[in-house]
Amino acid sequence: MLEKDFEAVFISDLHLSPQEPLITKRFEFFIQWAAKHTKSVYILGDFFHAWAGDDDKESWSDSISQQLRWLAEQKVSIFYLHGNRDFLLGQDFANEARMTILKEPTLINLENTPVLLVHGDRYCTKDKSHQWFRRLTRNPWFTRFFLLFPLKFRKKLVATVRQHSQTNHSKTIEQMDIVPQPMLRQMDEYKVTILIHGHTHKPGLRKHWYNERQYNQYTLSDWDDSPQLLCYNKSYGLYFNHDVFGVI
Ligand code: MN
Repeated sequence: MLEKDFEAVFISDLHLSPQEPLITKRFEFFIQWAAKHTKSVYILGDFFHAWAGDDDKESWSDSISQQLRWLAEQKVSIFYLHGNRDFLLGQDFANEARMTILKEPTLINLENTPVLLVHGDRYCTKDKSHQWFRRLTRNPWFTRFFLLFPLKFRKKLVATVRQHSQTNHSKTIEQMDIVPQPMLRQMDEYKVTILIHGHTHKPGLRKHWYNERQYNQYTLSDWDDSPQLLCYNKSYGLYFNHDVFGVI
C-alpha cells in the first residue's frame, strides 16, 4: 500500500444541510479524497448547519454518517468537536459515523509539537449575547434537559434560532470576530504556540507576538466557495491546500 500523503487534515464549518446540495457533493468528494490521502481527519465544529438531536434521522443525514463510517473503515481516524450550530450532536451519531467526539478545547500532538484545537467562538468575547448562548448550549445539563423535549418542538426551536441569527444584522463583523487577547492567554495556559480553529470563516495563518513569543493562529475556511484544507505532514508541517476540489 502507498504511504499516505498527510498525517492529518483539519476541516470545519461545512454547514452541511439538505438545502445545500453542492456542499454535500463536495463532502462526498472529500471522503473519497481523504480515504487515499490522509491518516486522520479532524472536524472542528459546525459540520452541520443545524442539528436538533441524533433522533432527527433522515435519509440525508444517514448518508452522511454512512460515508464517515466508510471512511473510518478505510483506516482513517475521524475526530470531531462541537460548534455553535451542531452542539446537540451526540454519541449515537458519533457511533454510527465511527468518529470520536473530542472535548473542547483539545490538545493534540503533531510530531512533538502540541497544538490546541477549538471551534473558535469562545474567543468572540465582544459578542455578549453569543457568549450567553454559548455558555447555555455547551452546558451538558442543558443539552440533556433540552433533549427531553419532543423532536418536533426541538426542530422548530432550532429553526427559529437559526433564522434569528441569519436575519440579525445588528452586530458588526468586528463585534463577531475573535479577540486575540483571550485566545493568546488560553494558548499560553495550555503551553502551545499553535492553535487551529474555525467559526469565523476567515481562513489563513495569523501570527501574533505575546510574552516575547510567536503564536500561530490557523483559521479554517468554510465550504461555500472555495474550501481549503489545512493539511499536516512531517516534511511540510501545516499548510493550506487549495487544490483538492478542482472544479467542484
Ligand atoms: Mn460557528
